[in-house]
Amino acid sequence: MSTSSLANNYKRRNLSFKKGIGSFLYSTKGEKYLDFVQGIAVNSLGHANSYLAKKLKAQANKLWHVSNAFIIPEGEKLAKRLTKFTFADSIIFQNSGAEATEAAIKVARKYFYSINKPNKNRIICIKNSFHGRTIAAINASGSKKMTEGFGPKVPGFDHFEFGNHKKLKKLINKNTAAIMVETVLGEGGIKVIPDWCIKELRKLCDKKGILLILDEVQCGIGRTGNFFAFESAKVKPDIVPIAKGIGGGFPIGAVLMTKKVAKGMIPGSHGSTFGGNPLAMTVGNAVLDQILKKGFLSNVRKLSNYFHVELNKIQKQYPKIIKEVRGKGYLIGLQLFFDQTKFIEELMKNKLLTIRAGENVIRILPPLNVKQNEIDLALKIIRKVCKEYKS
Ligand SMILES: *Cc1c(COP(=O)(O)O)cnc(C)c1O
Repeated sequence: MSTSSLANNYKRRNLSFKKGIGSFLYSTKGEKYLDFVQGIAVNSLGHANSYLAKKLKAQANKLWHVSNAFIIPEGEKLAKRLTKFTFADSIIFQNSGAEATEAAIKVARKYFYSINKPNKNRIICIKNSFHGRTIAAINASGSKKMTEGFGPKVPGFDHFEFGNHKKLKKLINKNTAAIMVETVLGEGGIKVIPDWCIKELRKLCDKKGILLILDEVQCGIGRTGNFFAFESAKVKPDIVPIAKGIGGGFPIGAVLMTKKVAKGMIPGSHGSTFGGNPLAMTVGNAVLDQILKKGFLSNVRKLSNYFHVELNKIQKQYPKIIKEVRGKGYLIGLQLFFDQTKFIEELMKNKLLTIRAGENVIRILPPLNVKQNEIDLALKIIRKVCKEYKS
């Protein structure tokens, strides 16, 4: 029996860490692990990044928190930067992914309310997707496992199965406000929605006069090699929740939106005590300083492409173990033919940390500034575990 005073809502591995440097974690027992979980796509610049630490410390000595009732220059700056090179004109800062998707839902509904179409309030989502753990977000995700036991279903969400375009079209009616999907389904098993499909979604939304919400909480902020995963489809969404990677390990969430849909968000319509405080905004700006550096994202594309090519070679060598290499950039999934639990444990025994996702997938999430020799080390460990694997 566990002696922990923490609730049992996580099945935790018996492993703790005392420090992290870049791609590596050091356990309390002194072992060194290659960490390709990075807090689930959170530490975009690795552990204890010295630039982020410097900026954080400097801000910590000046000002941590003030209410959003005052102007916060660091947040003004981060919002300006995030709107300058993206589809967005307007931003609300939050503290987590679930809050960001929750805010995205509120923005979509309030927009239609503000143009006298209050009945347009239903959101169409993919069944068994992942948008977070708030009551609204679990109902948006449409997963029985996540909603079961948590009381009445929150109305206003309709679901179609991944790829069932016929069903999606049938679900759209006069009450539909938006379609909300993850550009790449993370928890669901690193399922990439192809560019042509994102394009069609945009067209469909335009034709029906509804909004397109792309949840980039996991796949955004450079993870796929573009700042946003949807950029490769060359579309402009209306609303985009982000979180994980933008804080580099500091909790930050945000909802990005066009001027058009931001119209409904008048004073008092939404808020957050902590969202966008000086400490968080300083770290967000520091993360952008690094990711927006010339050559940073092209390097992510180049090196991650190498990683994919090499993983595909391993797949061909072990076609009875690895079914498919999925994903884009450093959002990588190895789909096995069988339950992945034991394989992940074997990788861990060989000092490589990875994490599960749906459909027997092992998620591989290096920091965006991972070095080639660290990728090579991961490849070596994966090859070794494949070679020695006995089910
Ligand atoms: C992680 C995640 C969320 C929820 O983020 P939290 O910070 O855990 O609330 C929402 N959407 C997607 C796509 C995610 O991967």
